[in-house]
Order: sequence, then structure tokens, then C-alpha cells
Amino acid sequence: MRVLGAFILHILLVIILTVVTQIGGLVYIICLLVFKRVTLSKWFFKPLIFMAVYLTVTIGVVPFIAPLFGREKITNTQDLSSHNYFYILANRNYVRPALNDVLRDVSSKLANQYPGIQIKYLDANFPFINGFSLLPHLSHNDGKKVDITLLYESPDGTLTNAKKSFSGYGVFEEAKANEHNQSDYCKNKGYWQYDFTKYASIISYNDDHSFSVKANRYLSNLITKDKRVGKVFIEPHLKKRMGLQNSKIRFHGCGAVRHDDHFHIQLK
Ligand SMILES: [Zn+2]
Repeated sequence: MRVLGAFILHILLVIILTVVTQIGGLVYIICLLVFKRVTLSKWFFKPLIFMAVYLTVTIGVVPFIAPLFGREKITNTQDLSSHNYFYILANRNYVRPALNDVLRDVSSKLANQYPGIQIKYLDANFPFINGFSLLPHLSHNDGKKVDITLLYESPDGTLTNAKKSFSGYGVFEEAKANEHNQSDYCKNKGYWQYDFTKYASIISYNDDHSFSVKANRYLSNLITKDKRVGKVFIEPHLKKRMGLQNSKIRFHGCGAVRHDDHFHIQLK
């Protein structure tokens, strides 16, 4: 019974590590096979060794193999960085080279207009295999997709790099009373998952910061003007609030999750 319990636990860990990091499950299996052949004096050596191997592979191996699959790590610059280290450590920061170029160009132009303001990226794609989704984003499976955070102003109206949640998702810029409430509409139609990402904001902060209509409009226009970009997803009430007309800005459908906590960008 204990053996069966341990086996199920290992399988669960392999699934979770694969879903979260793509390579973690494979690294875990390799570590288990090695641990079977060696004797370690302390139990905690195993998780420590696993973590060391995982980090070594993530930092020192994956970036060199990903180009064989047509992808590369998003290159951080002074104008562009990940919202937090989770996205980098979990290998969720891989894109096709063209999308890397779009991010670099757009972030540089944004910083020209608003010095010191950075684009913060969230989930992009895993490094390997077209069709392997980066959950919970089913479409982030080909290196052509990336999510970025919205831009916010502090209470005195200054544009800042501050965000509203630790994950970067889940704190919504809700529809006002006079705006179309897409979230209510979709949930009333039975799409219960539409605001599921609210659970991604376990830690939220900067409640007094507000959505910057001006800067987010400027950013949206930079993105949509780029010929390499095919589509941008943002919630309909924000599209209207920002006065955006570009046909690349689409509604993602009730079957997806709401997009008033981030921009979704994808290549043609
Ligand atoms: Zn997305």
C-alpha cells in the first residue's frame, strides 16, 4: 500500500511539474532513476538535488536547445522584463524570434514616450514542441503568443511600473456602470470559467492605483501598428474606453478568460 501511495505521488508530481514548467517532470523522472542507484545519508538531499538539477537545466541547457524548436527566451532589457521570476524559472518565457523583436521594439518606443516605464511580460510559451499548451492558456502553444501587464497610474496621476497582483493576473479593470459588462454577459450565458483567473490574484496590492487610459492607449497603438502582430486581445469595455479602432484588437470569445487584467499579443 505504501509503495502504491508513493507511486501515485510520483505520478502526480510528474504531471504537475510538466504542466507548470514543461521540463520539470522529465528532470524529476531522471532524478528518481538516479536516486534508485545511490544512497543518500539525509532525506532532504533528494529535493535539494532535484532543484539544483532543474535550475541547471533551465538556465544552462534549455536556452541552447530551444532554438532547434524555433523559440528563444524573451531578452530582458532596461525597457522589458518579466513581471516576476516565476515566468523565467518555470520556462514560461519562450517566444519565436519575431515576437522577441516586437517586444524589444515596442518596449523601446514606449520608454521613449514614457522614460523609465517598462513592459512587463507574463506567460508566453514553453521552449519546446508546437501544440504543447502553456496552461491555463490553451492557445499559448506555438511561440507566437505573449501576455503583458496593463499600465497603471499612482494616486497623484504619475505613470508607474507598479502592478496590482503578484502573478500579474486576476485583478480586473472592471466595466463601469455605463460600459458593456462582457464578464457578466459571458457568465450569464453559462461560461463559468470566464473570470476564473480571479484565483490568480491571491496576493494583490496597489489598490489605489488606476488604469492609465492614455498610456495603455499609446501602448496598444504601438503594438497594433507593428506589422508582425496579428491580434491583440483586450476586454471590449477597455477597447472602447481607450477609443481603440484597430481591427487587430479582437474579442477572444466567452470560451476564453477575461482580458481586463492583461493584454494578449500574438504574431500573424
Ligand atoms: Zn494570452
